[in-house]
Amino acid sequence: MPNASVVTRFAPSPTGELHLGNARTALFNFLLARRHGGQFVLRIEDTDTERSRPEHTRALLADLAWLGLSWEAGPDVGGPAGPYLQSQRAEHYARRFAELEQRGLAYPCFCSPLELDLARRAQLAAGRPPRYAGTCRELTAAERAARSSAGAAPTLRFRVAGGAQLVFDDFVHGMQHFATDDIGDFIVRRADGTAAFFFCNALDDADMGVTHVLRGEDHLSNTPRQHLLLAAFGLAVPRYGHVALLVGADGAPLSKRRGAPSLRQLREQGYLPLAIANHLFRLGHSGGADGLLTLAQMAQHFDLTHLGRAPARSDDAQLAVWQRNTAHELAPAARTEWLHGALPAGMDPARAAALIAAIAPNVVLPADAVQWIATVLGAPPALEAAAQQTIRRAGPAFFAAASQAALGCGNDWKALVAATGSATGCRGPRLFKPLRCALTGLDHGPELGPLLALMAPEQIQARLARFAGP
Ligand code: GLU
Repeated sequence: MPNASVVTRFAPSPTGELHLGNARTALFNFLLARRHGGQFVLRIEDTDTERSRPEHTRALLADLAWLGLSWEAGPDVGGPAGPYLQSQRAEHYARRFAELEQRGLAYPCFCSPLELDLARRAQLAAGRPPRYAGTCRELTAAERAARSSAGAAPTLRFRVAGGAQLVFDDFVHGMQHFATDDIGDFIVRRADGTAAFFFCNALDDADMGVTHVLRGEDHLSNTPRQHLLLAAFGLAVPRYGHVALLVGADGAPLSKRRGAPSLRQLREQGYLPLAIANHLFRLGHSGGADGLLTLAQMAQHFDLTHLGRAPARSDDAQLAVWQRNTAHELAPAARTEWLHGALPAGMDPARAAALIAAIAPNVVLPADAVQWIATVLGAPPALEAAAQQTIRRAGPAFFAAASQAALGCGNDWKALVAATGSATGCRGPRLFKPLRCALTGLDHGPELGPLLALMAPEQIQARLARFAGP
């Protein structure tokens, strides 16, 4: 059902390049908004000043736009609930911290990281879930003042009332139950004054009118705290859904550290954005239509009830299939632009167009085009093992006759096949396979007619003559 009040968002931390896992999260949120004619917000979560970099933010925006996504609100386009960089929202957070303190819903905590660590270890050793022991919960005003004047910079902790159950319906995982006793009071403002992740993430979602938070499963355990915070402020709680993580072919979660390619790397290798989107659309989202879809078609088929709970496997071979399908659907002008870098500089445009058309069926990535163009225009190609065998089997007499026949055929493949056939008596694969192998070095490849039309007759003749001798 279309519902124009649907507002989704993508909220990356600009600490590195976009990889397939977070690109999928962005895509799904974009599709959910488009499906309902709603809004898609881009918010940059750059409160971690040590790891966040403006150049990562710029690259994130460029990568998302390249993938074909667009957003109604974000750091580049502005919007009614801006700014969309968390680093510029300190005032919003400060107002909320003050409110929590005034209402007694949060308190300064002077525990040092070492003390907290020791307490956590003790709880783990006793088999209890680690949570804040409440040391600073009931300090008097005088005690707080004394600690502060002694120079200790406190964190701000949100008070969690124990003895309750927090229940919410995750739109991927179903009903979730958390005991507030297991949560414990948690930090909303760090000792350096910056807002903690849970806090600004939840508050910004509410302030930006986000209705659906679709994000990675690794955030599921954060959600109860975010519910508690939003309830404390009387703000609307978005619906949360946590998609299963993407794993690689080895079953381990995709991560940069394990060599998962970034979107930039894929783009530089010549992967097409629609191929990547089609690949991602099928990872953890079932149903929908088969075949290559546009983003608008994906949006029509995107359905929250089709999100899977099991980890989705991102398989390079599957991505290559989408890439092949997308490349084969490109219109000639778009294909020439895509493969432009593979062409020799200054090539006549009509010849370039003919060359690209001739090799296109065998090109999945620009690197394939580079190889085929070298085969057509460059030195005689080296022979692949299968081609060597075929050539050996055909024998020197075959190639003596073929190279002789080539003298009268120019660069006309049909004429060459006919003349070689009548000179050798060979037919079918025993005729054209050895010719293909000698001419291209491979026993498979694009149609030879258009390929040969781009070659000089003497080049063809020389390639055949190579095997005419003993
Ligand atoms: N900045 C968080 C991340 O990149 C956002 C999590 C969320 O989508 O809520 O993991």
